[in-house]
Amino acid sequence: MGSIPFYLHDLGQRELDSIAEVFNGPILTTGETVERFENRFREYLHVRHALAVTSCTGALHLALIALGIGRGDEVITTPMTFVATALAVIAAGATPVFVDVEPETGNLNPELIEPAITERTKAILPVHLYGLMCDMKRIRAIADKHGLRIIEDAAHCIEGHRNGIRPGQLSDAAAFSFYATKNLTCGEGGAIITNNSGLDEKLRLLRLHGMTKTAWDRYREGYTHWDVIVPGWKYNMSNIDAAILLPQLDRIHENLVKRQTRALRYVDALAGINSVRLQASVDDCTHAHHIFPIWIEGADRDQVMINLQKRGISTMVNYRAIHLHSHFRKAYGHVKGQFPIAERMGETTLSLPFYPNIPDEHVDAVAKALREILS
Ligand SMILES: *Cc1c(COP(=O)(O)O)cnc(C)c1O
Repeated sequence: MGSIPFYLHDLGQRELDSIAEVFNGPILTTGETVERFENRFREYLHVRHALAVTSCTGALHLALIALGIGRGDEVITTPMTFVATALAVIAAGATPVFVDVEPETGNLNPELIEPAITERTKAILPVHLYGLMCDMKRIRAIADKHGLRIIEDAAHCIEGHRNGIRPGQLSDAAAFSFYATKNLTCGEGGAIITNNSGLDEKLRLLRLHGMTKTAWDRYREGYTHWDVIVPGWKYNMSNIDAAILLPQLDRIHENLVKRQTRALRYVDALAGINSVRLQASVDDCTHAHHIFPIWIEGADRDQVMINLQKRGISTMVNYRAIHLHSHFRKAYGHVKGQFPIAERMGETTLSLPFYPNIPDEHVDAVAKALREILS
């Protein structure tokens, strides 16, 4: 495909050595390696509990189920996110209720949450878009006032914080993704963090069929009969995946700094192109910089994308507004015009090639191409 790729992972010998350790041991499924990853992950995020699972979609689904959210319940969320956010709500049996986003950041607009609350509303599901945290203090205050749960979709935001608050600190639970292009990756994987020990226990049961013993327990203790005490799911992470993740935690800060540097280079290189708007920065906030998006205003985004592709530059669209996908139109009667800010963003957003080791020349070449295409 293109000569300037959208994303390249930085996995290598360290991860191969780590996988070899698992291969040399007896447990391929959830075991000691997963436990080590969970401990390091919760320490990094300054929370009490972390559970490793097979995806962020599964993490969101489990968190909703464990909090007792299901049929007849409504969950307030954003239409400007990956569809998995809303699909997890549907998987739990509940209804996603969208509210529009802030024009400057693309995050769920807290002003619009209260008007969307009904007696069926059980939770708010904010997404820290591209790595920019939502105003969690404000969302916590609304949730407290109305007795609602908060589950964060922190798929983009392991490293971010805002006003001293990190994901998982003001919510019931936060969900993370280790999908192929995320800031930490094992190809496919996810995690849930929480400060609530009761919730953690429930999540651990639900993660593996609701069984009272895991394969690792049986290995350590010898076989004893186990019981299924709730109907659970199959979302447990394997030791192999945890082995791929562990060495990446050693360079998580280094990689964040690399992305910060590349993001600043883009900002400088794109300066003065009138049709390009950037996500606003927010005071007292560390952006996790998962994706580098621009909003193309005054030109056709899809044409720009095609022109970049012709020059060998790969881009993505994160995201077209969820409520306009066929299923959401059909199932919930959503129509164009309902969430105009998210819709406009969905029509104008373009994600540029971006990852920790992207060469400076690539950043400069992308900016130069945009300047030419848009002039
Ligand atoms: C990637 C992503 C997900 C889904 O993550 P998986 O691990 O692929 O299930 C959910 N929400 C957002 C915002 C994402 O970017």
